[in-house]
Amino acid sequence: MIVMKFGGSSVKDAERISSVKDIIINNINEKPIIVSSALGKTTDLLIEAGKNALEGTVDISHLVEHHTTTTSSLGITTECFEALFDELLELLEGIRLIKEISPKTSDYLVSFGERLAVRVISSYLNANNVPAKYHDAWDIGMITDDNYTDAKISPKAYQNIKISLEPLKENYTYTPIITGFLGKCSDGFITTFGRGGSDLSATTIGAAIKAKEVQVWKDVDGLMTADPRLVDETRPVNYVSFEEAAELSYFGAKVLHPLSMQPAKEHNIPVRVKNSYSPETIGTIIGPHENYAQGPIKSITIKRNITLIDVCSNRMLGAWGFLAKVFSIFDKYKIPVDLLASSEVSISFTIDKTEELLSAVNEINEFAEINVLKEHAIVSLICDAKNSSAILDNAFGKLATNGLNPKVISQGASKSNIGMVFEEKDAERALCILHSSILELYREAA
Ligand code: ADP
Ligand code: ASP
Ligand code: MG
Repeated sequence: MIVMKFGGSSVKDAERISSVKDIIINNINEKPIIVSSALGKTTDLLIEAGKNALEGTVDISHLVEHHTTTTSSLGITTECFEALFDELLELLEGIRLIKEISPKTSDYLVSFGERLAVRVISSYLNANNVPAKYHDAWDIGMITDDNYTDAKISPKAYQNIKISLEPLKENYTYTPIITGFLGKCSDGFITTFGRGGSDLSATTIGAAIKAKEVQVWKDVDGLMTADPRLVDETRPVNYVSFEEAAELSYFGAKVLHPLSMQPAKEHNIPVRVKNSYSPETIGTIIGPHENYAQGPIKSITIKRNITLIDVCSNRMLGAWGFLAKVFSIFDKYKIPVDLLASSEVSISFTIDKTEELLSAVNEINEFAEINVLKEHAIVSLICDAKNSSAILDNAFGKLATNGLNPKVISQGASKSNIGMVFEEKDAERALCILHSSILELYREAA
């Protein structure tokens, strides 16, 4: 069996859903389990409808119109989702009356997107002689904790999902279409995994059923050398390791959910990123480090809006306990540190969460000099950092010619990432320059 996950852009309208049907039919011998996101920008529209309800207006006309036009162009009726729109109206009416959206309500609100999508796709497949059944994720046992908007999948979910889907291995009588992004906590309320969470649903289901492969179908030819929206001449990367893919998403590439590589890596299930707009393109295959971490730099990412912190000890060289003291304060205020470079008496590091920062700064001020520099960005080279000298030689030469100097440079222990901190205003230029240096390495390697 394989898992095929279709993201919002792959199911955005009737034409795209029709292509998805063809992709499913072409892979039907692999016994695909389908995971779907909401149609196009539905999640954004639901969030907007919630905000409007808070301000006194309940209006779902855009959502109804888009879903109705889609079903009508697909030649199916709206019967599959009419009850959901009634339920959505009731929820928005409730929000309007009590003038509040808690994280719990927000998860319930955005859940309508995926729930609508699976009903439409399943109904359309059945109408085209592909027997299909839709499932809300909790029906197949996707249970989570109750951390609404950022829920974590319970270890028990794996066994539940396996039990629900295992019979299809032997007897594939229909194609299951499962909601991405959603689960339910033990109290029975709907939860979500955060934006882009359908990737995580797909790899979790893939791990649970020991799928041959998890395919995530998007609108790009695979993981690219940089975000094609920001950089010209990007190209797809054929092989990426689980670690590199995780670093890529953690350090700013909004292409995979940051946690989605965990289940795949733990259960060693290859993940393929494919383009639903061009299904014949091979895409990127993500797998274990030994086989996939070769080659030059894989990709460059940018993580904006981060804060750079410089801390210098007041004491002289040789003083011990300085690093421990600084980090225990950040730990106390639950401020995660991203990228770090240090010497015995000074540390530079970045954070992207600034709540409670003032309290941490005040405490550190008692024993060290601390500077907080906002409006910075991390540009990360995702690569097998074993070859860091060759990579940096080329990269720094180009940065120097363009008068750009990173403020901090760090190579993590994972050896998949070399991070550089720039002022926000210089970061996009640095990204493009570094990307052109990647392309040179690619040409040399070819
Ligand atoms: P979906 O929701 O359809 O699964 P996303 O929109 O979440 O897909 O992710 C695909 C988008 O991610 C692309 O359209 C692209 O603009 C963006 N992106 C950012 N960085 C990269 C990268 N390195 N490689 C590929 N796509 C990237
Ligand atoms: N529909 C959700 C979102 O837009 C989840 C996903 O697409 O993966 O974030
Ligand atoms: Mg996404």
